[in-house]
Amino acid sequence: MTIDLHRLALDAIDHAADELALDGWIRSSLVQPERSLAVQVPYVTDDGEIRIVPGYRVAHSTARGPAKGGTRFHPEVTPEEVAGLATLMSVKTALMDLPLGGGKGGVTIDPKELSELELESLTRSYTRAIAGNIGPDRDVPAPDVNTSERHMDWIADEYARIVGRPSPAVVTGKSLPAGGSLGRDTATAAGCRAVILESAERLGLPSDARVVVQGFGNAGAHLARMLQADGLRVVGLSDSRGAVHHPQGLDVVAVSATKRVHGSVVHHPGVELVSPRDLLALDCEILVPAALEGVIERPEAEAVRARLIAEAANGPCTPEADEVLVDRGITIVPDVLASAGGVTVSCFEWEQNLRGERWSAAQVAERLASKMATALHELWHVADARALPMRTAATVLGVDRIATALEERAGLAVDELAS
Ligand code: GLU
Repeated sequence: MTIDLHRLALDAIDHAADELALDGWIRSSLVQPERSLAVQVPYVTDDGEIRIVPGYRVAHSTARGPAKGGTRFHPEVTPEEVAGLATLMSVKTALMDLPLGGGKGGVTIDPKELSELELESLTRSYTRAIAGNIGPDRDVPAPDVNTSERHMDWIADEYARIVGRPSPAVVTGKSLPAGGSLGRDTATAAGCRAVILESAERLGLPSDARVVVQGFGNAGAHLARMLQADGLRVVGLSDSRGAVHHPQGLDVVAVSATKRVHGSVVHHPGVELVSPRDLLALDCEILVPAALEGVIERPEAEAVRARLIAEAANGPCTPEADEVLVDRGITIVPDVLASAGGVTVSCFEWEQNLRGERWSAAQVAERLASKMATALHELWHVADARALPMRTAATVLGVDRIATALEERAGLAVDELAS
């Protein structure tokens, strides 16, 4: 199901604003983006034709620092979706206490239909179209759905040509030679792993707890491998072609090899095939939706048997499902935290680029784990102190930090007028 992410983000902010009794002007500032750009993106096809598709870049908030967030290439990208995702990024960066705001970009196109050259033409053209709105101290794009380090390298290169100097901090998620950070490729998984282990301990789950991971893309595949290495049993896995189950635990490395060679986890020998819906209802302690938006609706929520859900994907639970899960006492580590590893290491990459530094893989891993643990503890504190579900508490904590920054800025403006 497609969910209206913009509506959801605005409802969540409204709710948090009520909880925090925020002033009207702060509320208004939070429910509309600071800057939003819609552009034409012309690109040249392999046949030499010019085609034009729509593109967007939204800076929802720069109250705490430059806007930050990914760029997706997808046929269903709409301005509303981009605005909703940009809003979620503001909450995410504030919750993680990063010196950044929230943004998002997108191009309405199916990149799977484009050749490599067409993709490069599209990405460079998109960069030229949004160049005036991005920059290391303004708005810093990153990878998202269907974009990866290759696209980020093109953005960095095109931007450098436009401004006439190297400017690697304009975009994160770059390849290492182009100024990327060690650990960025596994960052979402590593961040999610950190919050799962901490939460499992807090809930008193066994050290060999059973895990189901839905989605075997960048986040899901790395995460399943990491959790298995931690001693947890991965009893269920899925990709877009189907789902597999083994009650004693799957060998994740072997399943990855099967997927690499045969194209899907469903070809792995010696496993039980289950439907995508049954996967979510498997007997396990931890469920990780790491695929798409809106995959857990009310019926799935009623069938979930896990005690802990960690949302590695953005928006996997519909609001109705969320209510059911909360009523059933299932702990949810919400997407704004469980998927925040990516933007956190993006922030590290940006800082390294600005200071001309290169951090070791161990430094990145240590700083990421510490950031995730701090955010989780702060979130629990707010959830306990205000008796709120974790998702609401996450928005309250993020919104409170953005509101404080807005108030400080307004105070400065008032001082200036008075002097
Ligand atoms: N697209 C990722 C997200 O939604 C990463 C954004 C970033 O690294 O700036 O969090």
